[in-house]
Amino acid sequence: MPDMDNSGILIYAQITREEYIHTVFFELADKAKELSQKLGGVDVNAVIFTRPNFVFNYKEAFENRGINKVYYFEDESFKNYNTEFYSKLIVNLARQVKPEIILVGATNEGRDLAPRISSALGTGLTADCTDLDINENGKLAATRPTFGGQLMATILCKTYPQMATVRPKVFKVNPEDMYVQTEFIKCPIGISLANDRYTLLDFKKTIENTINELDSAEIIVAGGKGLKNKEGFDMLKKFANKIGGTVAASRGAVEMGLAPSSIQVGQTGKTVSPKLYIACGISGAIQHTIGMTDSKHIIAINNDKNAQIFDIADTGIVGDAFEILPEFLNQ
Ligand SMILES: Cc1cc2nc3c(=O)[nH]c(=O)nc-3n(C[C@H](O)[C@H](O)[C@H](O)COP(=O)(O)OP(=O)(O)OC[C@H]3O[C@@H](n4cnc5c(N)ncnc54)[C@H](O)[C@@H]3O)c2cc1C
Repeated sequence: MPDMDNSGILIYAQITREEYIHTVFFELADKAKELSQKLGGVDVNAVIFTRPNFVFNYKEAFENRGINKVYYFEDESFKNYNTEFYSKLIVNLARQVKPEIILVGATNEGRDLAPRISSALGTGLTADCTDLDINENGKLAATRPTFGGQLMATILCKTYPQMATVRPKVFKVNPEDMYVQTEFIKCPIGISLANDRYTLLDFKKTIENTINELDSAEIIVAGGKGLKNKEGFDMLKKFANKIGGTVAASRGAVEMGLAPSSIQVGQTGKTVSPKLYIACGISGAIQHTIGMTDSKHIIAINNDKNAQIFDIADTGIVGDAFEILPEFLNQ
C-alpha cells in the first residue's frame, strides 16, 4: 500500500453495471468540496474498483469534479460488485489513509457496503442523510429524518472516520467544473480474491427498475390516497400522459395497492427534483415532502384547504380531484 497519512474526505465511487460512475458520486463530490472548504481545504479523494487499466477512462470526470486523489483497486473480477472484497479493501485503505470523513451513496450497493465498513472500522454511520455540514468544532454534522420523519436530527459521530450515506438526487451537481490534476494511486489488493462464501451467478433487472423514469422526469404527477381507487389513478395517468408527465405516488397510495413501490416518492422512496411536481390527493406528510421539496414548482390539488401540502406548494388548488382532473383532461 502506498505511504499515505493525510486526512481528508474519501468518497466511494460506485460504478454502474454499464461501467459509468454513478451520478450520486458527483453529487457527493460537490458537497464534499463544500465541506472541505470549511475544513480548511482538505483533500477530497475517491476510492474505486475497476477492471485492469479501466480507471483512466474516468480521468476527466474525476479531474473536473476536483478529486485530488483516486485510490483504485483493479482486478478482472471487479466488473461485478463484491460486498466482501470491496468492504475489506476499503477498510484496509481507510486504516492507512485515515480519512476524517467517508461518504457513500445510499444506492442498493452503498447501503450494503457502508455498514460493513463502519462496523469493521468500529465507527458510526449516519444513513440516508438529507444534509451534511461541518459544525463549529470541525465535526461532520449529518442531518436525517428521525422518529418516523417527525423530526430532523443532526447527528455527530464521536469516532473517526465519520461516515454518512446520502441518497441519489439529494444534492445537486454544480454545473461548473472544479478542475484539479488528479493523482491516481494504485492500491495493491493484498487479500485472497478466492471467494468460498458465495458465487455470483447472474444479475437480473427487475421490472420495477426498467420502468422507473422518475430520476430524469421533468414533470411528475403524483397521486395519493385522496385518489381513492383504480379509477382515480387511471385518471391521474391520463392526465400525466396529456402533459408529458411521469406518474409517482405517495406511500399512502402504494399501501392501498394503487401504485407500485418503485414509484413511491419520499423518505422510503425516491428523491426527485423535477421542474414541475403536481401532488394530487396527497396530504403532505414530511415523509413524502422530503422526497420532492427540491422540485422547481409544486402544484397541489387537495380538497382540504388546511392540508400540509399547501405549506410547500407554489400553487394550490382546493377542490375535489375527481372534478378538477377531468376539467384538465377536457381542455
Ligand atoms: C418511517 C416512515 C417512512 C415513510 N416514508 C414515506 C415515503 O417515502 N413516502 C410517503 O409518501 N409517505 C411515507 N410515509 C407515510 C407518511 O407518513 C404518510 O402516511 C403518507 O405520505 C400519506 O399518504 P397520502 O398523502 O397519500 O395519504 P393521506 O395522508 O391520507 O392524505 C390523503 C389526502 O388526500 C386528500 N383528499 C381526499 N379526497 C380527496 C379528493 N377527492 N380530492 C383531492 N384531495 C383529496 C385529503 O384531504 C388528504 O390530504 C412514511 C411513514 C413513516 C412512519
